[in-house]
Amino acid sequence: MLEDKEDSLFTERKYVTLELNSIQKVIDCWTEGAPICTKLQELYQRIVSLFRSDNKLLKKAVSEFYDECDRCIDKKTSFYEVYLKQSIVYLIDVIEGVAGIPQDELLCDPSVKNCELENDERDTAYCACKMYAFYNLAVSDNERKRREMEFWDWYIKEAAKLQGITIQTTVRIPNKLLEETKIEINSIEEFVKYISYEYDYDKYEIIEEKRRLLVHVFHCKNGASCPDCGQYSNHIYMEEYVIGSDILGELNGWIIEFKFHENAYYCDNPDCYEYFFIKSKVSFEDKRMHFLKLRSIHGMPEKICALFGII
Ligand SMILES: [Zn+2]
Repeated sequence: MLEDKEDSLFTERKYVTLELNSIQKVIDCWTEGAPICTKLQELYQRIVSLFRSDNKLLKKAVSEFYDECDRCIDKKTSFYEVYLKQSIVYLIDVIEGVAGIPQDELLCDPSVKNCELENDERDTAYCACKMYAFYNLAVSDNERKRREMEFWDWYIKEAAKLQGITIQTTVRIPNKLLEETKIEINSIEEFVKYISYEYDYDKYEIIEEKRRLLVHVFHCKNGASCPDCGQYSNHIYMEEYVIGSDILGELNGWIIEFKFHENAYYCDNPDCYEYFFIKSKVSFEDKRMHFLKLRSIHGMPEKICALFGII
């Protein structure tokens, strides 16, 4: 707790410092990869230095940054840029709360996409953690998890430091996260499972004139856990109750879209609701990251296209 009994303003300032340091950590890791365009990187860096110095130029810089984010965000596939923008949206909320300034509509933007959390739940450090983990967009699941752990380890230490406490211990990364398995895709089924283990392949469609490949899959075909009580059920309430779609990106000029179908299941727990909709354990950003990982492997795009007979 960043508490200061004498001075609550001081407490809030520590919080802002911590959030700004989180953002700085993201900026520093951009040297390892290139998740976004240079223009966005520069605008973000500029805001962070303005936060630390001259507030008069900040408003203009922020609105310029938001415009550039909106220009770069592809509504269907972006997640990194969404975190980038949200990290500033939230920080401004915090700062305006501290200074007692009424929230400015210009600086407040609730537009979010592809994320399970509500806007106000995604604080700056949360966004920073995600961006730090996705330091390049082709990280593996294990590497992403390792980096998330590293980030929170750093964050706790940083928070403690602001309270005048030094933490000596370091988080221990579990051995299973240190392993990297070789990726082999030899069938459409394997491709679908790599995108999400919750998916089962059904069929595919090629829309030649739009250069679009539709891959139909079942989501949690053989049952799922109730999101309310956790009890597993394969007792179908209604078949193919939900139909949705994920656009994963492009592969050799083809747009790859997954159409998923899912059942609603009865919850057989008498103390729970009658039926439930599945709550996925694999988020859109996970699926998109899996796709980008595959795409980054030499020869893989051609191999996947060949499985579907698209050139
Ligand atoms: Zn239940």
